[in-house]
Amino acid sequence: MNQYNYCKPLTPADPLASYYAAINERPDNKANSSGGRNKRSVGEHTKYWRPGRTLKILVYRYNEQSFEVVKNGANKWLPYINLNFEFIEIDEEDIYDSDDFLGDIRVNFQPLLKNGGSSQLGTDAMTGSPHTPSMVLGTDFASPNYEYVVIHEFGHALGLNHEHQHPEAAIPWDREKTYAHMEIASNLSRADVDANVFPLERTTNRTYTPYDRHSVMHYQVLNELTVGDWHQPKNLHISEGDISAIRAIYP
Ligand SMILES: [Zn+2]
Repeated sequence: MNQYNYCKPLTPADPLASYYAAINERPDNKANSSGGRNKRSVGEHTKYWRPGRTLKILVYRYNEQSFEVVKNGANKWLPYINLNFEFIEIDEEDIYDSDDFLGDIRVNFQPLLKNGGSSQLGTDAMTGSPHTPSMVLGTDFASPNYEYVVIHEFGHALGLNHEHQHPEAAIPWDREKTYAHMEIASNLSRADVDANVFPLERTTNRTYTPYDRHSVMHYQVLNELTVGDWHQPKNLHISEGDISAIRAIYP
C-alpha cells in the first residue's frame, strides 16, 4: 500500500555538536557566506567530510544480501568524489561493546521501512551516541528501487540536501493536497512537509549548483500534487547535475 517512501533525513539532536563535528572534520564547513541577509546562526554550516580521507562504513549484519547491496549502492558515488570507502560488516553487539565511534557511517536495517530509508546528513553522523546507526535502510532488497534508495541515502551521508527543496525549484505544488498526501503516504506532519518537501530559502548550509529536477536527491513528484501539468518520476541514477555538485564538494 505504501508505494511512496518519502525520505526524511535525520536531524541532529544537538545543533552545537553538529557544528563542532562539521568544523573539526573540515574547517571550511563554517559558513562561507559574505554576510548575506540572513543572520548567521550555529545551524548554518555545511556537513561535508574532509576530501581525500577514507570513510569507515559499518554495516550491521542482517542477511546474505545486505552487505553487498549497501556496498554496491554506495560505490556508485565513488568515481566522482575524492574519498575512499572502507566497508566493515559488524554484529550489532560488537557496536555496544565499544564506546567509540567504530565507523563514520553506521548502517542498520529496519524491515518496516521496506524499500525506504533515512540518514543523517554528512558529519552529523559523528554526533549523538556511537551506538546509534546514522543510516537506517529497509530490507526489500529485491525491490527494483532498492539500489536507488541506497544511492539517495548515501547522498545524504555525503552531506547532500534534497534537490526538490532548492530555492529555485519551481515545482507548482498544490500545497494542501501535498500535506494530505504526505501524511497518508509517509506519516509526515505539516511541519515535516514544510521542512522536507517545499523549497527552502537560500542559506549557507548547502552548496548551490543549478536546480536539477533529474537529481537522485529529488523526490518523485506526482502530477496530482501539482497545479497544472507538472510531474517528475523517481530519478533512479546519479545525474549529470549530481556529478558536478559532488565533484565540487569533494575535489
Ligand atoms: Zn532523502
